[in-house]
Amino acid sequence: MAKTLIWVEHDNVSVKDATLAVVTAAAELGEVTALVAGSGADAAAAGAAQIAGVSKVLLADDPAYANALAENVAPLIVSLLADYDAFLAPATSNGKNIAPRVAALLDVAQVSDILSVEGPKTFTRPTYAGNAIATVASTDAKLVITVRGTAFAKAEPTGGSAPIEAVSGSGDSGLSSFVGAEVAKSERPELTSAKIIVSGGRALKDGDTFKATIFPLADKLGAAVGASRAAVDAGYVPNDYQVGQTGKIVAPEIYVAVGISGAIQHLAGMKDSKTIIAINKDEDAPIFQVADIGLVGDLFTLVPELVSKL
Ligand SMILES: Cc1cc2nc3c(=O)[nH]c(=O)nc-3n(C[C@H](O)[C@H](O)[C@H](O)COP(=O)(O)OP(=O)(O)OC[C@H]3O[C@@H](n4cnc5c(N)ncnc54)[C@H](O)[C@@H]3O)c2cc1C
Repeated sequence: MAKTLIWVEHDNVSVKDATLAVVTAAAELGEVTALVAGSGADAAAAGAAQIAGVSKVLLADDPAYANALAENVAPLIVSLLADYDAFLAPATSNGKNIAPRVAALLDVAQVSDILSVEGPKTFTRPTYAGNAIATVASTDAKLVITVRGTAFAKAEPTGGSAPIEAVSGSGDSGLSSFVGAEVAKSERPELTSAKIIVSGGRALKDGDTFKATIFPLADKLGAAVGASRAAVDAGYVPNDYQVGQTGKIVAPEIYVAVGISGAIQHLAGMKDSKTIIAINKDEDAPIFQVADIGLVGDLFTLVPELVSKL
């Protein structure tokens, strides 16, 4: 049975949801050891130990690992990997920062953004913005993999009781330093784990109109707010709202696309949503090809009407 090491995404207190899908993917390959690299991260390690399917937690506690700086975390992972056959990380911004460094230090080819495990070294992954699915087989002795969170069921966050073992690494590599983080605070659910998402596109005109139109609908539905790249590029909302090929990949129960045309790069980020509702005044807009429910009309009439009826 293969031995896998996963990188746990966390904020030193709790484990991020993206980790749960990685546990499921890793368990399909073999035994799962979870690495919590952080600073004062006992609570995160305790959380990781409870995830069903995790057989051991390694806790590397050092100020150098406080903010998941890839330059510090990657050498730590490489030093631990002697005992493992595969390393897996979520295909999140941090995971995509760390895993390629691990692959480079090991001189192996990374398998990115896997959708399924087909065999001990064979995986599927999207290509051409998700328009084709490639089956790839690695010939490397050690696997380095990133996992698309929406493609795997989430492991149960509780129920496990894995032992926690302290490990240490070389700490600060001196290659980068943490300056600060500006984290947007929102009462709304996080985009990548929300059950319902309401997204707005270029048609929303400007930031104020976007907020006045989209936010009331999102609030009524208890939804997270997303946006197309055109809306983000025009400055209606910040970059971290972007859904799509170069934004976030989401697969909520319900995705409401308002004034979004449905360019392939946008679809690449949301087409796995269970139910897609599109509001667009152009009945030929490509979004209607993937929509389960389509409303053709002016969003500035339809959205307030929806809000008033909900
Ligand atoms: C390499 C690359 C990566 C990209 N990555 C992404 C990505 O990650 N995410 C992303 O979203 N895009 C991405 N794009 C951009 C993408 O190609 C499109 O340009 C973008 O998605 C268009 O955004 P939109 O649908 O909001 O705007 P538009 O295409 O301009 O569509 C606006 C829609 O609103 C409708 N509309 C206008 N007024 C109203 C009204 N009053 N009522 C109802 N409907 C109305 C119109 O009919 C139209 O369909 C990428 C492009 C490239 C080249």
